[in-house]
Amino acid sequence: MIEVRNLTKRYGTNLAVDRVSFTVEEGTIVGFLGPNGAGKSTTMNIITGYLSATSGEVLVSGKNTLDEPLEVKKLIGYLPEQPPLYMDMTVKEYLNFMYDLKKVKLPREKHLQEICQLVRIEEVYNRLVGNLSKGYKQRVGIAQALVGNPPVLILDEPTVGLDPKQIIEIRDLIKRLGKNHTVILSSHILPEVQAVCERIIVINNGRLVADGATDTLSHDLSKDHRLLLRAEGPEREMVHAIRALPRVQEVISLGEKEPGVFEISIETDPNSDPRRDLFALMTRRGWPMMALKSMDLTLEDLFLQLTTSDNAAVAEEYGDEMDHAELLQGGKDR
Ligand code: ADP
Ligand code: MG
Repeated sequence: MIEVRNLTKRYGTNLAVDRVSFTVEEGTIVGFLGPNGAGKSTTMNIITGYLSATSGEVLVSGKNTLDEPLEVKKLIGYLPEQPPLYMDMTVKEYLNFMYDLKKVKLPREKHLQEICQLVRIEEVYNRLVGNLSKGYKQRVGIAQALVGNPPVLILDEPTVGLDPKQIIEIRDLIKRLGKNHTVILSSHILPEVQAVCERIIVINNGRLVADGATDTLSHDLSKDHRLLLRAEGPEREMVHAIRALPRVQEVISLGEKEPGVFEISIETDPNSDPRRDLFALMTRRGWPMMALKSMDLTLEDLFLQLTTSDNAAVAEEYGDEMDHAELLQGGKDR
């Protein structure tokens, strides 16, 4: 559906996007995650055809953004970081204006009504855009992107500046839209992307540093895979028996943590899961399992690792307004 190939963008000597490649399958919600200044907006502006790349190419449904810019624009609904709202129009006037601008052929009234229902702005249809709350403005921005029924939606930081309740509403809306659209959503907030997206692409300093399913990304990228077991039983016998299990590499006892209860570190093969075999073994031998947890990196750990290196330039540019606590919690935006 969307193919980004070796995309590079320079602003003068500043390399904003550096050989980024990814594809987005039809019907998925993908999160484009990275700290401020990572290159998210630049990439989105290139995909939507509002900015030209220095090199590389973007195909949307097989159409090249450079060769067929108008065709590609018809396929994409775009909510830029600064939504192009006209404050002195009513919502109705504004959506009609966008309808004309995009030269939409669908039945006007019916189409606009459907959009307003979907994004829940019917009750403000005749109000001036400038008088709406930030949450409603953002929904009008999303409505504008939906005019013409494009199969692809690209939303650049759609929840920035909203209060927690509005954030939840917009996230729910995006999930609903994801049922029949391909969605790329950018954010600098990990929990947001985790809550909404099936897949996460992490970008840092213009480079793609991770790309994978939200649920397995941290497991797949963790270098060592370890389980930490607490069990009651004879220390050496337990270690010995666990070591003999398939798909288990290194087994070390970390000592007695409660009377008669030992903590045992179990290193496993990257693509295997010995937990069921372990459970069967411990049950068979009558060694009660008191706790078992995975020592894989959490997604938070991983995101920090991926975006911490080489961050000085970004921090400097943004006058230190961004720190990592903020990346993880949403900090100043909430
Ligand atoms: P993000 O959206 O992830 O915060 P951007 O794509 O806005 O990142 O910016 C990526 C980098 O490109 C930053 O270093 C930013 O300062 C720089 N940049 C963005 N737009 C321009 C521009 N119009 N002129 C020069 N540099 C820019
Ligand atoms: Mg941006």
